[in-house]
Amino acid sequence: MRLRIKAPSPAQVRYDPYRMGVNQSTLTAWLTCREKARLRLYEGIEKAQKAKPLIQGDIGHKLLAQCYRENPKDVASCLSEMIGQAEDNVLKTGSTTMQEEIETLQMMEALLPVYFEQYKLDMCMHWRYVEHSLVIPACKLGVSIPYICQIDGGFIAPDKPDRLLILETKFKANWTQGYIDSLGLGLQTVSYIAAAHASLPEKPSQMVYNLIRKPQLRIKKGETRKQFVTRVQDDIQTRRDFYFQRYKVSLSPSDISKATQRLRALISEFEAWHRKCTLFPGEQDLCLNGEACSGKYGPCPYLERCTSGTSVGYSRVLHPLNSAYADQPLQ
Ligand code: SF4
Repeated sequence: MRLRIKAPSPAQVRYDPYRMGVNQSTLTAWLTCREKARLRLYEGIEKAQKAKPLIQGDIGHKLLAQCYRENPKDVASCLSEMIGQAEDNVLKTGSTTMQEEIETLQMMEALLPVYFEQYKLDMCMHWRYVEHSLVIPACKLGVSIPYICQIDGGFIAPDKPDRLLILETKFKANWTQGYIDSLGLGLQTVSYIAAAHASLPEKPSQMVYNLIRKPQLRIKKGETRKQFVTRVQDDIQTRRDFYFQRYKVSLSPSDISKATQRLRALISEFEAWHRKCTLFPGEQDLCLNGEACSGKYGPCPYLERCTSGTSVGYSRVLHPLNSAYADQPLQ
């Protein structure tokens, strides 16, 4: 994957967590590998191109958000119109990820109408928040850095007017029981509930994980778009539970208090690291986590930089010992 140095924009010149806050994505990168966080935050180095699963997730989230926001009577035609417009825009802009975006829109055309059939009662909910940003001010958290996050949705069921549920959607090719079991423990659950509790008047304590499986079928040679959409929809219709699953996690008042403490402890540690990186840039703790170099979306985008020694000053390029060396002793 190519890397590019971002042109320094006024906001990018210096990452200022005291003003800009820290979000879940930054905390996750920092927990995964300090060097990854350092390159992203302080060196302004980002991925030149987003990984395909992230593009798919972005498009899927945008389409869902628009449907929940507009609450149309005929969701299928609204989706078809939105997807048509989105495709026109993608073709006009001619982005470098055009192919992935068009394929994703085709996939969503097949997937989302069945999703809305499966969860038709979603349209009876009161969607009080859609793609809504939450902030826990630093003083409320007892640290010096505010925490920010964005929830996909917050809804109220007609028969439970006093209870807000947070919805978080995941588009995934696959998931395991282990993944499902880990959702309740993840930073996202604790930090989102803590943030919602601290900043929304409704004080929610429950979160619904909305898992949507991305179909792995691809358009065949000679197949029309309509035939492809019908084939994918037939597959989804015959095994909806395979494609769509939801799980609810509830936090008690004591869990929420512990979640807030956990967030406070993490942000305090993050702040100490930030101060070290910025006050003593030559002496920062170059903590590479080699276990994280091969991630769920493929190799880390900084792998070439790290192995070549650009970051750490020593090279870790592996020399292949292929069959030409088979009859030579190892040395
Ligand atoms: S390549 Fe590995 S060590 Fe380097 S930033 Fe990525 S995860 Fe960290």
